Amino acid sequence: MPPSQPPDFPVSPNAADAPPGPFERATFDPTSDAEWESLRRLGHRMLDDLLAAQRALPEQPVWQALPDVLRASFEESGPRHGIGPEAAYERVRRSVLPYGLGNWHPRFFGWVQGNGTPLAMLADMIAAGLNPHLGGFNQAPALVERQVVSWFAEWLGMPGASGLFVTGGTMANVHALACARIGAARRLGRDVRRDGVQSWPGEPAVAPLVYYGSTETHAWAFKAAEWLGLGSRAFRTVPVDSDFRMRLDVLEAMLEADERDGLIPFCVIGTAGTVNTGATDDLVALADLCRRRQLWFHVDGAFGALAALSPLVREQVIGMERADSLAFDLHKWGSMPFECACVLVRDSQLHHEAFRHRASYLVPSERGPTAGGMYFNERGLDLTRGFKALKIWMQLHADGVEHFGRIISQNVRQLRRLVAAIDAHPELERLAPAPLNIACFRYVPLRPRGAMGAYTDAELDPLNRELLARLQERGLAMPSSTVIHGRFAIRVAHVNHRTTDADMDHLVQQIAVLGREIAGASAVPV
Ligand SMILES: *Cc1c(COP(=O)(O)O)cnc(C)c1O
Repeated sequence: MPPSQPPDFPVSPNAADAPPGPFERATFDPTSDAEWESLRRLGHRMLDDLLAAQRALPEQPVWQALPDVLRASFEESGPRHGIGPEAAYERVRRSVLPYGLGNWHPRFFGWVQGNGTPLAMLADMIAAGLNPHLGGFNQAPALVERQVVSWFAEWLGMPGASGLFVTGGTMANVHALACARIGAARRLGRDVRRDGVQSWPGEPAVAPLVYYGSTETHAWAFKAAEWLGLGSRAFRTVPVDSDFRMRLDVLEAMLEADERDGLIPFCVIGTAGTVNTGATDDLVALADLCRRRQLWFHVDGAFGALAALSPLVREQVIGMERADSLAFDLHKWGSMPFECACVLVRDSQLHHEAFRHRASYLVPSERGPTAGGMYFNERGLDLTRGFKALKIWMQLHADGVEHFGRIISQNVRQLRRLVAAIDAHPELERLAPAPLNIACFRYVPLRPRGAMGAYTDAELDPLNRELLARLQERGLAMPSSTVIHGRFAIRVAHVNHRTTDADMDHLVQQIAVLGREIAGASAVPV
């Protein structure tokens, strides 16, 4: 149960208005054995608490509401005087630790949010402790990142590609699109880095650059168009078939019509694992089409790209290896703590051309610590970057990439188990194909005996919205939702390495129980 009393935060006696010490120090006095010892003890306690919390997750609610008194504490003004590390940790332990969204929990299935692994958590601690700046230069942490990039480039079928770790799939995709734009400009003899995408006085007007993806493409594609100055009109959405895959006949027709209208198509986005239903476009056909029409072929594989690691679903993403660029997350189906995504660009020279600026204060040298220069800074927008790759490198060394594949296979099998349970259940209706790790469905009450007619969407949408709210608020399980063909759907997006088969069965049972609870309470007209 959440605490109902306001927590008392002990104030360390020498914290407030203490006279300045011999020198101002960062957090603690490095010359004091006693302070090292108390920090060591605090660190061990934090670690013990965190591991114990993770161990106890199956018995805990997925989510619980923050008590008002704690919520109010987040409105307090900033501390003028410190309370010391122990008391500060106590605040974290009481008011933050129990009140996350629950995405580390075995029954969390919402929004394609990954769980994180305990080992990667520890690696992140080392990354933060060493605190290297990942702009580049001659240091082991940069070599770790280069190596992890090259491993994934090989495993995902793009050996030798240039790559960069970024915060998330959104940024990875945007970086790829920026490269695609440079590629297009090169072909057209336009200097898009200098001129942008606008016409300048006294020069011939430039035609708009446009790119394509299915209507199921993730919303990053609109954000990217806006941010790159192309305008959201530049992203042309192609309708999908009944399996939620891009209609290639319509794409061809759109390309031709747009060219006739004076637009310049430069890129097609294929999605490996759409966010709504886990559909994957026909990547082989898209690769062929892009080659034939000299278009940049980008694959958004935010979570789906890692299907390549599992023999169960590998064939779904064939064609991905022919992409000019590929974006994928490790913090979704790779179980790495946030933030951890990667962009791969086949043409390494172009990748650098898209972002390189040689500032005088960053000039590389031939030898010593600055040898090689700031090469990661030349592959993206960020200059200062954290050490994202260590946790992957360490987890891979511990488990091997085949283990990553086994987790993915396990999730696919569990999703198939869920789908079988939905399809067999008289009160559950599946709303979309479930080829990968996502299932969309809803609860449909049985009509009382003798009742006529089926439930309408107008009845089922609010019922399922209420059902999902109760499921989440009671901390029973955490799917999220979407809309499929205009119908409200409960959506299970499964990237959870902690889930057991029993958790999946529990989900189905709880949905049926809640559905009956709600349908029973609302007087259904007969
Ligand atoms: C999650 C997702 C994104 C965005 O990735 P983030 O890591 O959340 O920024 C893009 N595309 C697809 C298909 C996704 O599932």
